[in-house]
This record gives sequence, C-alpha cells and structure tokens, in this order.
Amino acid sequence: MSDIVLPAASAISSSSSQTPLLEITNLKTYFPVKSGLLSRTVGHVKAVDDISLTIRPGETFGLVGESGSGKSTVGRTAIRLTDKTAGDVHFDGIDLYNISPQELRRLRPRMQLIFQDPYSSLNPRVRIGDAIGEALLDHGLAPEHEIRDRVQDVLSSCGLSSYHIDRFPHEFSGGQRQRIGIARALILNPDLIIADEPVSALDVSIQAQIINLFSHLQETRGLTYLFISHDLSVVEHLCTTIGVMYLGSMVEKAPRDELFKHPLHPYTKALLSAVPIPIPRLKRERIVLKGDIPSPVNPPSGCKFHTRCPFAMQRCIEEIPQFREVAPDHQVACHLV
Ligand code: SF4
Repeated sequence: MSDIVLPAASAISSSSSQTPLLEITNLKTYFPVKSGLLSRTVGHVKAVDDISLTIRPGETFGLVGESGSGKSTVGRTAIRLTDKTAGDVHFDGIDLYNISPQELRRLRPRMQLIFQDPYSSLNPRVRIGDAIGEALLDHGLAPEHEIRDRVQDVLSSCGLSSYHIDRFPHEFSGGQRQRIGIARALILNPDLIIADEPVSALDVSIQAQIINLFSHLQETRGLTYLFISHDLSVVEHLCTTIGVMYLGSMVEKAPRDELFKHPLHPYTKALLSAVPIPIPRLKRERIVLKGDIPSPVNPPSGCKFHTRCPFAMQRCIEEIPQFREVAPDHQVACHLV
C-alpha cells in the first residue's frame, strides 16, 4: 500500500461540529435459527449486538474485524437493506426505520453500497453503460437522452475511458470492475457510501489505486464513507475514526491516529500486529490468535473474546466488560483497561 497519497485524517475531518450524516444507536440485528419439521425458531444469530457509531459529513468511519464479526450486517442494516432487531438508525436526521416505503425509495440514491466483488452484481450480457445508467432511469433522475453523457462523465471521474461504455463486464480487469462498481454508486450522486471490503479481492498495487480514487472522490464530491474491511492497513490510509468489531460487538473505537499509536484492546493489538511497517528495520511482533472466531449463535459468556485472549482471567469469563471511554473519543471494552 506504499503508493497511497492521501491527506491526513485531521484534514478530512474538518466537520466535527456538523450534524451526523449517519447515526447508529444501540443497533441489534439478530437472525432466527430454524429447526425441525415445523421450522421452529431455536435460537438467534446475533450478527450485530448493540453497536453505536456516528459519521459526520465528509468523514470516513472504518469498521474492521475478522470475517464473521458482523461488519457487513452493520453496513446493510445502516441503510435498511437488512431489517434491524432493535436500536435506531438516523440518516441526515431522518429515522430510517420510521418512514414509508415511498420516502425510503426517495432517500435510496443518497445511500449507496459498494461490494467486494462488483462482477457478481453485473449482468454479463449487459453493456457497462446500460448497467451504470439503469439506476438513473429506475429512480427517474435523468431523461433517457441524457443518460449516455452522464455515464461517460462518471466513468471519467472513476478513471475509465468513454469507449468503455459499450464494453461487457468480462472485458475488464479486477481493478477496472471495482471502478465500475464505484461509478454505479456515484451516478446517483450519493452523500453516503458504504464500501464493503471494496479492495480485498485486488492485488496490493491495485488496492492503492482504488483507495486513492476513494480519497479523490471524497475531496472533490464531499462524500461520507463507512468503510468496511478485515485489514487495518487498508482503513489506516482513509479513515478518520476506526471501530473494531468482534463477534457482533464493538470492542474498541478511537480516532485513527490514536488507535494506531495507543491500541488498548488485546484484539486490536493482534489485528495491528499484522499490519506491515514500511521501514524494514522496525519489526512488529506478530500476535497470532488461537482458534477461530466462535459462533454468534452461542457466543462465549462474559467477554466474548475470552476464548482467544492471551490475558483472559476468571473475571473475563463471568462478567461482560463495559464499553467505556478511557480517553477523549477513545472507547474500549476490556477488564484490563
Ligand atoms: Fe481479554 Fe479479559 Fe480484556 Fe476480554 S476482558 S479482552 S478476555 S483481558
């Protein structure tokens, strides 16, 4: 990721006094587990279990954690693509779960989701220009005769050429396909983009180009991002604030620089130990966690991380650590802190 050229996070976050664009409060998203002939509910997958976060206009919030930690479900629930079980979500001051389907449809263009693999959401028989332009038609945001020009503009903003408009998805490389995914979201002129692992499938050099594109678009269009990744080195370059999730819960949240300089939770420290340092003589000691992330159907008692934590003690098995502020804007859930 050494080719990334980005402004300091403090420069991105010049809007701390503004009303939040996205405010998630005590969000829970549970999925029923059914069993038997009568398909009875025998338990719940607690994918998201009491998460709160705030993103102001122009900011980027990085949500990190291993696969299965519930990050993607937070993203989908935040824009009402998945139903919540409890809690509140406000988008630009509007209670997203308390509006009519018509109002929600009117808001949809302002909240867009970018996937890890845009290829899977593209019809192989539909030309890129039509795939990007159809959202404009669906939402009635442009007359048909303007669509081609609008698509060419957005392709150019995303680093693609105007002749790409008539090509099919299989004619593009992985990085170009992600640019197409970004163009599809961008054509609706959104305020908020939820980017779910948008660079994890790409080579490192291409990752840097796409991260730079995200940054450039944020500067030129004032976009706000919820950036989801399993890799702290990806969010390091783009985010104002970082939240670390484990098994549906937030275990640490802090401004980017604070989190990288003073990580407090053992899980954050383990994730950070995997981030390469660009100076070869400085080596981080790698912390390898034992075992896999437990099942969210039956999470461990007390601190959910106790089955893998090198510092676990009896209290960790019995008592849930509170998520509390230990320094300005720095919150953590651990009995040791
Ligand atoms: Fe480890 Fe205990 Fe802290 Fe959980 S509460 S992270 S098990 S020390």
